[in-house]
Amino acid sequence: MGEIKQLPQNVANQISAGEVVERPASIVKELIENSIDAGAKNIEVRVKEGGKKFIKVKDDGHGILPEDIKAAFNRYATSKIKDIDDLYSLYSLGFRGEALASIASVAEVEMLSRHKSKENGVKIRLKGGEVIENKPAASTIGTEVKVRDLFYNTPARYKYLKTTSTEFSHIIRIVNAEAVANNEISFKLYHNNKQLLSTPGNGKLKDCIYALYGEEIADNLLAIDIEDRYIKLSGYIARPEKTRAGRSHELFFANGRPIHNNLAAKAVENAYSKLIDPGRKPIVFLFIKINPILVDVNVHPTKKEVKFSRSQIIYDVISKGVRKTLKAADPTTRIKLNS
Ligand code: ADP
Ligand code: MG
Repeated sequence: MGEIKQLPQNVANQISAGEVVERPASIVKELIENSIDAGAKNIEVRVKEGGKKFIKVKDDGHGILPEDIKAAFNRYATSKIKDIDDLYSLYSLGFRGEALASIASVAEVEMLSRHKSKENGVKIRLKGGEVIENKPAASTIGTEVKVRDLFYNTPARYKYLKTTSTEFSHIIRIVNAEAVANNEISFKLYHNNKQLLSTPGNGKLKDCIYALYGEEIADNLLAIDIEDRYIKLSGYIARPEKTRAGRSHELFFANGRPIHNNLAAKAVENAYSKLIDPGRKPIVFLFIKINPILVDVNVHPTKKEVKFSRSQIIYDVISKGVRKTLKAADPTTRIKLNS
């Protein structure tokens, strides 16, 4: 008998869950992206105890067929791509088919879904990756996923979760970014049954920013609209008088999806550097449109950090574009930037 053994499927899923499910906010992000991919117009997120106890994401998207609901929880099971070439013409947010399998392996999950072509819904419940219930159930069209007791079976990971308020602040950040990116969808967020945010979903970026960040920020935005080589920048940047202590209000989107990218952040901060106190950070909602060939969304399993090729050109276009927009805004800014 050899010593090398294949790991059971649910153990393999638990291990890979470490990459997809870092904290409650990562679950919220995966579930929201599934709702967006399903064509939802309304997405409601409810969490308790910073998402450590309970997360629910409910949408009015196209739903799942009863015969598919179990497969949705299989690893590498996806309806979004069929082969590797599809990755280069990708319009969906998901594609790895890993999220639901990973989440279900480290929590208790319940999914209620009704496909738009069906009269009735179906409900499935899993615990530690095992299906414990799968039966017809009444439902409106769309999908609702509940996640309870995250990391109940991996205590070492549970220990790494932060306080309720820290975990919840990560969730707010994710929901804000998704709501800004998808401003044609209405988002609602509740924490411990209290409604914290609600966006109109009317497709107007500024209305969405107003709903999430308030009047003071919304009233001090400059529209940015730059096209340079193969890059298009749009969105809003705040006047330099409005700043934040950290990068919490620097939001970047590549081809419509929220991203983290240090290069883009540095380029923006460089453009503002003569206008704001060192240590303060600007407020930007910057949409970067670029040939998908130049963006690698595949570097991180949660698709959080993206890598650009030709990064120097991208840095220059962003930095110049932001400076140009600030300069056009008012004379005092112009003088400071020219000095
Ligand atoms: P991926 O999104 O990468 O395909 P997931 O594990 O997140 O992988 O989801 C697996 C499959 O389950 C999806 O491809 C989709 O067919 C289905 N699915 C998940 N969530 C929803 C939803 N909210 N509405 C409709 N279908 C869904
Ligand atoms: Mg997904």
